Amino acid sequence: MEHKQASFETESHQTIQSESTDAQVRLAKNTWGDCLVIIRARVNSQSFKTWFDPIIPLKMVGNKFFIQIPSQFFSEWLEEHYYSLLTEALTQVRGTECTIEYIITPEDKDLSLVNPVSASSSTIESSASLTAELAFGSTTVSKRDHRSFAVQPTIQPSLNPRYTFANYIKGESNQFARAAALAVSNNPGGTSFNPLVIYGGVGLGKTHLVHAIGNHLVQTGKTKRVLYVSSEKFTVDFVESIQKDSITEFSNYYRSVDLLVVDDIQFFAGKEKTQDIFFHTFNALHQLGKQIVLSSDKPPKDLRGLNERLISRFQWGLTADIQPPDLETRIAILRKKSGDDGFELPHDVVEFIAANVTSNIRELEGCLISLLARASLENREIDLDLAKDVVRSIIGEVRMHITIEEIQRVVCEHLGIPEDLIRAKTRKQEVVNARQVAMYLSKELTNSSLKTIGLHFGGRDHSTVIHAYQTVEDSTKNDPKQKSLVQQLRSKLERNMG
Ligand code: ADP
Ligand code: MG
Repeated sequence: MEHKQASFETESHQTIQSESTDAQVRLAKNTWGDCLVIIRARVNSQSFKTWFDPIIPLKMVGNKFFIQIPSQFFSEWLEEHYYSLLTEALTQVRGTECTIEYIITPEDKDLSLVNPVSASSSTIESSASLTAELAFGSTTVSKRDHRSFAVQPTIQPSLNPRYTFANYIKGESNQFARAAALAVSNNPGGTSFNPLVIYGGVGLGKTHLVHAIGNHLVQTGKTKRVLYVSSEKFTVDFVESIQKDSITEFSNYYRSVDLLVVDDIQFFAGKEKTQDIFFHTFNALHQLGKQIVLSSDKPPKDLRGLNERLISRFQWGLTADIQPPDLETRIAILRKKSGDDGFELPHDVVEFIAANVTSNIRELEGCLISLLARASLENREIDLDLAKDVVRSIIGEVRMHITIEEIQRVVCEHLGIPEDLIRAKTRKQEVVNARQVAMYLSKELTNSSLKTIGLHFGGRDHSTVIHAYQTVEDSTKNDPKQKSLVQQLRSKLERNMG
């Protein structure tokens, strides 16, 4: 790698302009004409058109061959894919080992046609400085002075305005990813979270969160140069740019943003050329201190079919996961989303859906939408029966989970006790027994933690639940009446759910 870089260098603008002789220019043209014959035989016509047609031979000095190419990206691509082909062709034509020096010039500023710039110019180190130099006639453009970049393409951010931090519900399952996303949107490119990679299963809120970063930057006026793309869109854009011979525009577009979001990078798997161009885009942005945010369905190290060097780049910054939402988060999401739609769902309906639709948030939303749709189309009340119908059709299971609420309802009904007493402080013996039996069944029939169960019984702590559980377990062994009560309740609950 090292020797390549050494022989594949840029050269001073002024040297080219003032010191080329006709003979050197002629020699370069002839040499290049012969090289093209060799190259044409070795690459397909599409690649030839894309990567070799745009090269302009400038001059041949000793065994140094100077060529002009349209962009930094172009040089990287040549270096990576055609370096040996180029040097071999050149060596074959010249009969001696030659090196290639290149000059980056935008296509409309053909150096071979431009009059020499008379002032002493700085060494050309990037397309940015050269563009600026040609456009503004400046002689001391700093390589880092990106304000002088001639024309920046207009960016279509493609953000969904609904996906904001404000309506992203915080929960234990997403708090790390959310905090990282917030940090990045407050200081894009300025944290060590570059790239920020958010990963998690489908429907867990990755797309929402990465949009929220972009929306935040646009809304706070930090920058408008924000670009969201799916990995598929990036791939399609790239392929199209090759077909339309506009690879330089493609690369300039993607490199001109302050925030680049690429969603679902797992779909880059197996697409070698797309990964290559993404790798270069990534490097260019990272070097300029621009923020990169990626999402994926797995942690980067587990992505199959992705180039090692890309995976290692992905691990430069921060990787944050989103887990499936816990019960409390699912409840909060249902409340918020139904509230946004102008509904207040009955408590038992919320509990029931949240207990049964557990896999992801998209499914939870789907459930809510079909609940509201069926209520209005069938002119039904939104109650537990309707919720059961909807959940059954969505999760497609005959047996559904039992909720703590449901257990409380059935136990109280069976024992003829007002439901609120079971959550209240009262210590009347029959209520205490009902409460303990309901706690016992909650532990047996739901996946809830002791803490969650305690919370459902008027905020009692987990040791109370353990005590209740043991009491009921002991009494069912010694007291046939208690045993039959628990059995009856259990089968009633299981029947209800069937
Ligand atoms: P992913 O990209 O991980 O597959 P999405 O971002 O598309 O998931 O999320 C699916 C749906 O769930 C979207 O409508 C999104 O708004 C919603 N959603 C996900 N997480 C949350 C959350 N924490 N708060 C509110 N809505 C969420
Ligand atoms: Mg998504």
